[in-house]
Amino acid sequence: MNFLTSPSQKFELPKRIARLGELATNLWWSWHPEASHVFGRLDYDLWERLGHNPIRLLNEVGRARLNKMAKDKEYLEQYDTLFHKFDAYFSKETWSQKSHADLKNPIAYFSMEYGLHETLPIYSGGLGVLSGDHLKEASDLGLPFIAVGFMYAQGYFSQRITEDGWQEAVNNPLRFEHLPVSLVMKDGKPVTVSFDFPDRKLTAQIWEVRVGRVPLYLLDSNVEGNSDYDRLLTARLYWSDLDRRVMQEILLGIGGVRALRVLGYDPAVWHMNEGHASFLTLERIREQVAVGVAFEEAIQATRKQNIFTTHTPVPAGNDEFPLWLIDKYLSYYWADMRLTREQFVEIAKHHTPHGETYSMPILALKLSGGSNAVSELHGEVSRDMWKFLWEDRDVNDVPIQHVTNGVHTRNWMARRIYNLLEKYLGETWYDNLDDHQLLEKIDQIPDKELWGVHLHLKRKLSFYLKERVRDRWTHGGFHPVQVVASGVLINPYALTIGFARRFATYKRASLVLSDVERLFELINRPNQPVQIIFAGKAHPADDPGKKLIQQVYRTVKKAETGGRIVFIEDYEMNLARYLVQGVDVWMNTPRRPYEASGTSGMKAAINGVPNFSVMDGWWCEAYNGKNGWKIGEEKKYASNEEQDALDAESLYTTLEHQIIPKYYNRDPRDLMSADWLAFMKESMKTVIPQFSTRRMVKEYVQKFYIPAFNK
Ligand SMILES: *Cc1c(COP(=O)(O)O)cnc(C)c1O
Repeated sequence: MNFLTSPSQKFELPKRIARLGELATNLWWSWHPEASHVFGRLDYDLWERLGHNPIRLLNEVGRARLNKMAKDKEYLEQYDTLFHKFDAYFSKETWSQKSHADLKNPIAYFSMEYGLHETLPIYSGGLGVLSGDHLKEASDLGLPFIAVGFMYAQGYFSQRITEDGWQEAVNNPLRFEHLPVSLVMKDGKPVTVSFDFPDRKLTAQIWEVRVGRVPLYLLDSNVEGNSDYDRLLTARLYWSDLDRRVMQEILLGIGGVRALRVLGYDPAVWHMNEGHASFLTLERIREQVAVGVAFEEAIQATRKQNIFTTHTPVPAGNDEFPLWLIDKYLSYYWADMRLTREQFVEIAKHHTPHGETYSMPILALKLSGGSNAVSELHGEVSRDMWKFLWEDRDVNDVPIQHVTNGVHTRNWMARRIYNLLEKYLGETWYDNLDDHQLLEKIDQIPDKELWGVHLHLKRKLSFYLKERVRDRWTHGGFHPVQVVASGVLINPYALTIGFARRFATYKRASLVLSDVERLFELINRPNQPVQIIFAGKAHPADDPGKKLIQQVYRTVKKAETGGRIVFIEDYEMNLARYLVQGVDVWMNTPRRPYEASGTSGMKAAINGVPNFSVMDGWWCEAYNGKNGWKIGEEKKYASNEEQDALDAESLYTTLEHQIIPKYYNRDPRDLMSADWLAFMKESMKTVIPQFSTRRMVKEYVQKFYIPAFNK
């Protein structure tokens, strides 16, 4: 292709270690902990202080230090080993080449957000982390894969909690020269795509991020020629006003297809991660209509290659737009498609109690050859929710399958756990991580070794929390009670429960607090202390979510917690890594069946942290009685109140009679509970192979990508 990318960053490095610059600009480094190590060794303090940003590190560490390391024999050995791996990664034969050599044209993946690394905050939560993990795995498997999203100039907000527990949003404009992004150029000018609204033209430029082998293209509307209003369009994730929201989705779906075309791609599969990108189906039809194909035939010609993944089990959670907004922005467009307004609206029309709307999931469901939910239970819920679109069919025949989510193992597994598996499962275990039989060998890891690694990770979490508090305290404006609420009294040897996720009301963060007297009594028993670590953001426009944080925070501040219940500000991928690796139990209490899948529990389990969860989403499929505990029953309840009360009772009873006794049934000599270690190992054995993106992406290949290729 005749395109150049113009990197936003520059390096001046000693020749001998100059490839660190190359490494810093390919996110490959972010899921290979040995690479972080090679950066970190340049200056650990600075590495932590810069929030693991290798580009800034290389620019700020200073020439003297770089020169010194460029002569350090031991460092150079590590450096060479690392680059040997790095080069081998790109040259070795991949799974895709071996098993699916016929897959040539790329699979194009569209998502509103990507959680790749904490230094690139273009994600808000689970949906983004899933897309990020999907790209990393697609790269590992060697699939021909490209992706489209947005370069949000302000990133997602950082969270601050006031003394009274109110969430404040801090926006941090991103500095592109600190990020692993390159502007796509041609003939010395940025490559752009545009879309004609009836009253103006919207233009966007394109940034490229390298995710191993996979290029991710990020659209950015902050370009000359756009109005000030339009320049801000891609500044933030999920504007709450629908006007901007619909414009964003037009840019993602339609602009995204145009971007790939300008770049010379001819994808064989178009995968929409959630309904935000559904407009891409229309753009592909329009392309056909433009060369003379009739509308109905254009649908037939493009449909089979579209794949739609839905994540939202509640009708209200789905994106839909009032028709006047569709008129406002798309009235030129339907003319381009040679459709009347009625025909255009008909494609995605949703009759709701508030009138007719234009529904993004309906658009995707109608125009996709394959659709899927993200867990088995969510598949049932989705078929039921959308069955009205297929009135002549039985609910079981509604064409929505499921592919249960997974997590990228290397990305979320602690380096020491990984090394332990390498030691006991063999050097090539990672190539076969979805082989259940191989994972059975986890039983051969001596309890003492696994426990030793786990305790190390718990201490690491506890130090990390303290350093964060020190920083906040030093900078002022932090009340002493907030210091305690942020985890300074956390004891790395006590049973520790983690609860971290978006604060949406259906996730019921306060379920464990529904009877605080009982809880305080439970956690403060002599010799059996229990700690609970909360973290999570609410969407800035979600007041009920923010009130929930406040309710939790007000409880956290009470002296009766003994400093054992804490709330950690600003949940993001870095904090998530510390938490899922460094607690003893991962708790999840959604109101069933509203958790489509959930993935944080998988991240915990692969690190030997058992789950304690409502039987919802992925946990229904994973729970076997020996790898964690369940909360409540697998059934429908008469009312939310009844469900909440019964689930709370189940939670307290299980905690008191099963979890606490098992943990503290410790051998007095080594303070280790063999029963507990059996649960840790069972978690790893059952979750690593099954709930990995390795299994997940392969399943997408078999069930969806291959059939779409063979259109
Ligand atoms: C994994 C992850 C999530 C998603 O967790 P759920 O269990 O699906 O709620 C959200 N935010 C961050 C930062 C994560 O790492």
